[in-house]
Amino acid sequence: MIVEMKKGTSKEQVDHVIERAKGLGFDVQLNLGTEKIVVAILGTDTGRTSTDIFAVLPGVETVTRIMKPYKLVSREFKSQNTTVSVGGIKIGGHQVVVMAGPCAVESEEQLMETARSVKEAGALILRGGAFKPRTSPFAFQGLGLPGLRMLAKVKAETGMAIITEVVDPKDVEMVAQYSDILQIGTRNMQNFALLKEVGRSQHPALLKRGFSATVDEWLTAADYLLAEGNQKVILCERGIRTFETSARFSLDISSIPVIKDASHLPVLVDPSHAAGHHKLVPALAKAAIAAGADGLIIEVHPNPEEALVDGLQSLNPIAFARLMTELKTLAHAVGRYI
Ligand code: PEP
Ligand code: MN
Repeated sequence: MIVEMKKGTSKEQVDHVIERAKGLGFDVQLNLGTEKIVVAILGTDTGRTSTDIFAVLPGVETVTRIMKPYKLVSREFKSQNTTVSVGGIKIGGHQVVVMAGPCAVESEEQLMETARSVKEAGALILRGGAFKPRTSPFAFQGLGLPGLRMLAKVKAETGMAIITEVVDPKDVEMVAQYSDILQIGTRNMQNFALLKEVGRSQHPALLKRGFSATVDEWLTAADYLLAEGNQKVILCERGIRTFETSARFSLDISSIPVIKDASHLPVLVDPSHAAGHHKLVPALAKAAIAAGADGLIIEVHPNPEEALVDGLQSLNPIAFARLMTELKTLAHAVGRYI
């Protein structure tokens, strides 16, 4: 249930609404907008509570039910776009933010070389997994803590902000110490223990779409992060499973305008995992920007033939630099910049 307060309402009136909700056993979340304050009343039983209970309180303008499964990520709760600031970079604003780097951190040299080249080409954030969620237990699982230390070292030398994946709730605190954004991968979109822990960390988080998840399920999963008070949430479309096998996944371009309409959160696109092949990456990256994505996360490896993970879909530094030049023109054409 969403309680919109009148413009210029007093703190006492807002507190009164909160006390009433808590007295009924509900949780509340506040959206302190510049224009007015919105109070979300949350709980399993809100459907059985009359909206009049809140409508009669002083200072209340309207009370509406959110009929969608997701609440806090919805535009009903917060109509203005959310921007997530990471080391001076604003995600969800006018700028299209490009994150790039290897699938996995393999060595300090590999990471440093990639960082230098992607930074030179205009990427603002360095990606690289130290913990890899692999389909097979026998595949390379990432370097773990030594990989995180390499990310920190490269950050110190290049000044680039870092995004890296966390796969285990008990590692959230540690991975947060070494990264600017915590990545939650497609296979963990509904790992609720992980979502709650990342929510509690209050650390900026990028939530990838589960490859078998609907947009509604994805947004509802994002509510787990916001329910813990973490508002620094970025969504990332990375392709879904369909009957089509010509690409690794099917990039659901429609989800970008759908999300923009339904949610206030920024949305990025990962063309690399959708494509599965480096040749397809540029077209998907361009389509994403044209469709309104707030940024991209792209796999780049200094020597893709030797990559331990996802070499086929990784761009080499030359191809990445060429793509960035094209993307800058494209961003400009849709009223944005890179
Ligand atoms: C990745 O970014 O390297 C990754 C594993 O992505 P996804 O979770 O989308 O498969
Ligand atoms: Mn990968």
